[in-house]
Amino acid sequence: MDADVIVVGAGPVGLFLAAELKLAGAEPLVLERRTTPSGEPKSRGLGALATEALRRRGLGDRLAEADVEGTKDLARDHGSTRGHFANIFKITPDASRPRTNIWQPELERVLAEHAEGIRVLRGHEVTACESDVDGVTVTAGRTWRARYAVGCDGGRSTVRKLAGFAFPGTPALLRTVAGQARFAGDVPPPGRYAGGTFLRGGSMVGITEPASNPEPAGAAGFAARVRRITGTDVVVEEFREERRFGDQARQVGDYRHGRVFLAGDAAHVHSPSGGQGLNLGLLDAANLGWKLGAVLRGDKPEAFLDTYTRERHPAGEAVLRNTRAQSALLAPGAHVDALREIVAELMDLPEANKYFADLLAGTGIRYDFPYPASAPVGEHCPDLELVDAEGRKSRLHEHTCTGRGLLLTTGHPADPRVDVVRVTNTGPLLLRPDGVIAWAGEGPLDVALDTWF
Ligand SMILES: Cc1cc2nc3c(=O)[nH]c(=O)nc-3n(C[C@H](O)[C@H](O)[C@H](O)COP(=O)(O)OP(=O)(O)OC[C@H]3O[C@@H](n4cnc5c(N)ncnc54)[C@H](O)[C@@H]3O)c2cc1C
Repeated sequence: MDADVIVVGAGPVGLFLAAELKLAGAEPLVLERRTTPSGEPKSRGLGALATEALRRRGLGDRLAEADVEGTKDLARDHGSTRGHFANIFKITPDASRPRTNIWQPELERVLAEHAEGIRVLRGHEVTACESDVDGVTVTAGRTWRARYAVGCDGGRSTVRKLAGFAFPGTPALLRTVAGQARFAGDVPPPGRYAGGTFLRGGSMVGITEPASNPEPAGAAGFAARVRRITGTDVVVEEFREERRFGDQARQVGDYRHGRVFLAGDAAHVHSPSGGQGLNLGLLDAANLGWKLGAVLRGDKPEAFLDTYTRERHPAGEAVLRNTRAQSALLAPGAHVDALREIVAELMDLPEANKYFADLLAGTGIRYDFPYPASAPVGEHCPDLELVDAEGRKSRLHEHTCTGRGLLLTTGHPADPRVDVVRVTNTGPLLLRPDGVIAWAGEGPLDVALDTWF
C-alpha cells in the first residue's frame, strides 16, 4: 500500500479531508492534476458550519483576518453585507453562527498550510481508479495502491465517472457569463431586465440568462449579450477572466461505491446562489475523515462508513432544493418579478428572515441517528463559550484541535475513547470529532459512546 487513503484533488475539500484523515491517524496521499493552485476566485464566502469546522481545527484566526478584507469586497460589489436568496439581499445572518467572507484562493492557501506535512503530489492527473476487495488501484502516471480512495475532484469528477456513479438531476435552466470588463461610453445599471439579469460590482460584470440562449465568446460576444438583455448599445473594449457557470443540479445517490467515496462538488453540483458549495463540501470532508480513520484503526467495522451517505446525502439534497428554488426566482419574466416581490416582502417578517438565514447556513440540518434522541442531538454544535469550576472561560474550538470526540460534563467519569472537559455552564454534551452532538443528557451515554467510538 502506498497510503491508507488516496484523495483525488487538492481543492478545498481534498485538502481538508487529507488533514482530517491525518488527524485521525490515517496516512493520506493527495493526487492533484494541476501543477499550481488554480487561483480562480470562485467562492467568496464560507458558510457558518464550514467556518465552525475550520475553527475547530485552529484556523479561526486566519479566517478572521481574511474576513476583514472579504467583507469590504462584499460591500463594494453587492452594496450590502447582508445575505441573499436569489439576489434579494435582505437576510440578516445569525450573529451567533458567523460565516466568513474569504476568497477561495486565500482559503485554499489556508488549507494548504493546514495540510502541511501531508504528501500532495501535484501534476498527477488521475486517469483510472479500480476498487477490489482489499483496496483501490489509482492511476496517475504510475499506479498507486491504498485501502480507500476519495474523489474530491470537483463537479466534472473523473473518479465519479471511472467508478461508475450515476449522477441524476436537472440540467441548467440559467447560465451566467461573468468577467472583468472595460467599457467605453455608457454602461446600463445592474438589475433585472425582461430577458435576463445584468450583474455589476466593481469591474466584475456578468449576464444571467436562460441556458438555451446562444453562448457568446470574448468581448464582442459579451457586448452583444449585454445589448440584447439591457437594450443599451454598449461597447466592451476588453473582457478578461471570463467564467461561465450554469445551475444544473445533480447529486450521486450513494456517496460510496465499494472502496471509492466522493466528497464535495464531485458528489453534488448546483448553482452558486447563496454561496453554499463549500459549506456542503467541507462538511462532507469533516464527516468522512474521522469515520475512515476509525475504520482504518480497526475501532469500527466497515459498515460504519455507510453513515456517511446516510448523513450527508440529505444535506446535499437540501442545498439542491434551495438552489433550484433560487434559480426559479432568478429566471426572467413578469411572473417571476411578481413572485420575487412577494418573497422580498416575506423576508421582512423576522421569522421568515430567520428561516432563510438558517436555510442558507445549513444549521437546520439534523442527522438521523440509530438511537432515539431529540434535538439538539444530530445537530452541529455552535462554538459555545465554556466556563469551568474555577470560573475560567474558553471556547469550544479551543478543545477540539485533537480531532477526538469530546465530552462536556460536570461529573461524568472519564472515558478513554474521548477527551473530557469539565464545564459548569452547559448541560452535558457528547460531541463527535465533526462537532455533531451525539448525546445531550437524554438516554444512556454508553449507547452514544458505543455507536460512534
Ligand atoms: C462563480 C462561483 C461562485 C461560488 N461562490 C461560492 C461561495 O460564495 N461559497 C461557497 O461555499 N461556494 C461557492 N462556490 C462553489 C465552490 O467554489 C465549490 O463548491 C468548491 O470549489 C468545491 O470544492 P471541491 O474541492 O469539491 O472542488 P474543486 O474546487 O473543483 O477542486 C477539485 C480539484 O480536483 C482537481 N482534479 C480534477 N480532476 C482531477 C483528476 N482527474 N486528477 C487529479 N486532480 C483532479 C482539480 O484540479 C481541483 O484542484 C462558487 C462556485 C462558483 C462557480
